[in-house]
Amino acid sequence: MSGTYVGMPSFPDAAHRATRDKQLRANLTRATHTIRDKRARAVAELEDWEGLRQAGKAIKDETLAHLDDYLLQLEAKVTEAGGIVHWARDADEANRIVTELIRATGQTEVVKVKSMATQEIGLNEHLAAEGISAYETDLAELIVQLGDDLPSHILVPAIHKNRTEIRDIFNRAMGHWGRPAPEGLTDTPADLAEAARLHLREKFLRAKVAVSGANFMVAETGTLVVLESEGNGRMCLTLPETLISVVGIEKIVPTWRDLEVFLQLLPRSSTAERMNPYTTTWTGVRDGDGPKQFHLVLLDNGRTQTLADEVGRQALRCIRCSACLNVCPVYERAGGHAYGSAYPGPIGAILTPQLRGIATDLDRSLPYASSLCGACFEACPVAIDIPEVLVHLRAKVTEDAKEHGGHRLERTAMRAATYAMTHPAAYRTAEAAAVRARKLIPKKVPFGAGKAWTETRDLPELPPQTFRQWWKETHR
Ligand code: SF4
Repeated sequence: MSGTYVGMPSFPDAAHRATRDKQLRANLTRATHTIRDKRARAVAELEDWEGLRQAGKAIKDETLAHLDDYLLQLEAKVTEAGGIVHWARDADEANRIVTELIRATGQTEVVKVKSMATQEIGLNEHLAAEGISAYETDLAELIVQLGDDLPSHILVPAIHKNRTEIRDIFNRAMGHWGRPAPEGLTDTPADLAEAARLHLREKFLRAKVAVSGANFMVAETGTLVVLESEGNGRMCLTLPETLISVVGIEKIVPTWRDLEVFLQLLPRSSTAERMNPYTTTWTGVRDGDGPKQFHLVLLDNGRTQTLADEVGRQALRCIRCSACLNVCPVYERAGGHAYGSAYPGPIGAILTPQLRGIATDLDRSLPYASSLCGACFEACPVAIDIPEVLVHLRAKVTEDAKEHGGHRLERTAMRAATYAMTHPAAYRTAEAAAVRARKLIPKKVPFGAGKAWTETRDLPELPPQTFRQWWKETHR
């Protein structure tokens, strides 16, 4: 695994490989079932969960309907509080802005608190190419970075690794990035956490620049909010002299009062906790307290085009809790890498093709990466109807294919079907011939387009007589 999603195969190809990896499947099944069960218990504690869910949905919908106004309000408040706001149309622009801001400080190292937006734009790879080292400080992100791997889950990016694999990664790679793993490191959680703490402490004490994301941005005060479990994020957000936050424009909420809803919805949905251990908020800069400079990079990167789609825009309500991943039977088997972007699982299947468009095989395949069972919709704390968006995007993929002449084999099959349906005698003959030859028809097609189809399923068995024959016999 390299550090980039660029050029990854389509979902079926990647999933095909992943489903054959027994260790990966075991790690994923154990982890997702544990979180899923805990979440269900945490949610059941609240009598008004459905009311909260609808409140979260309503706040996000109202915000998205007036996004332009709220963003301008946010910009004014951040500026008033001493921060500087930058607008980035796409990944290139955002990467360029962040690189220039870091260069202006004279630094060549930054610490990072987990941020999906920077993963989305490939910031670490871009910075590396510009000679700047970015150190991840979230424990799971650290494991992924040290393992030269990619995140595979929104909340637990290293969910596909077990403890022994993590110990081996620490032993192998910590020394290349800074303080080596302690001698005789075991794979107990306490030992692994201590090794990470010692390794990261060095980075926190040295760093002059930090890069972060944010879970929410409050328009009325220009405040950013990060929720996390380890406290490493808070070290990043408070110790360095310069803080650069890269945040998607949809992360905005109008007022502090709105946070009341999301601070209940998010922890229970993601970590099954009543409240998350660390909530850090920051508004511009303040003398003697926290960073001396604060830059907010507001990232579009396909969000306004998503907003323009009446059905698809509900994906922008997402608060990145990962509940939909933990209940998804497809994610559980295929793992996060198969989705080929920073956003795996059901939300990735609807968000990525909207943000990136459907020009590549991978992006066109994502709306099909679902059984449409609806478990993701049930679990989503902001009631995103993921199956509805999946079907909507499948229609778009089909329309797009039609505009480009359609799929050759599909066209041929449809022509053959049209002929058979409009020529009853031919249809009757083909039907009777198929029934007579039913014993000779194999369960798998050994070649051609049917080969891929029957690799994961058997051909349906033909009945011993046609419907017409049965009708004749039973309705004399
Ligand atoms: S789509 Fe819903 S369940 Fe999935 S990560 Fe987003 S908010 Fe959570």
